[in-house]
Parts: sequence; C-alpha cells; structure tokens
Amino acid sequence: MADDVDLAQQLEQIHLDRALAFRQHESLPRTGRCHNCGEPLPTDALFCDAACEKDYQRLRRMRAQRLS
Ligand SMILES: [Zn+2]
Repeated sequence: MADDVDLAQQLEQIHLDRALAFRQHESLPRTGRCHNCGEPLPTDALFCDAACEKDYQRLRRMRAQRLS
C-alpha cells in the first residue's frame, strides 16, 4: 500500500519535472546568442551545441535548488 503511494508520488514528480523543463526551455528568448556561453549563433538556435545546452540546464537546476 505504502509502496503504491510512493510510486505514484515519484511518477507525479517526474511529470512535474518534465513539464517544468519543457516550460523553461520554451520560455527562453531567441537572442541570436548561445544562452550558455554567449557565442553568437548564425541561426535562431538557443545553444551552439548539445554540450552547451546540457551545461546551461545543469546550472539552471543548481540555481533553482539553491533558491528553494
Ligand atoms: Zn555555447
């Protein structure tokens, strides 16, 4: 019984995390520069590559955890 509740809460947390990550990403303005390193980008991309995007998300998560 208790296990079922834990599992449900975990699943709910995963959904929340995904929804939050999606919203954060969606709300990023397209500035023509990489949001992580500030490198100018030729396209309307948000980051120069996957590594920069991962870096940015990691920093953002760390910042969010410090605030909560
Ligand atoms: Zn970059």
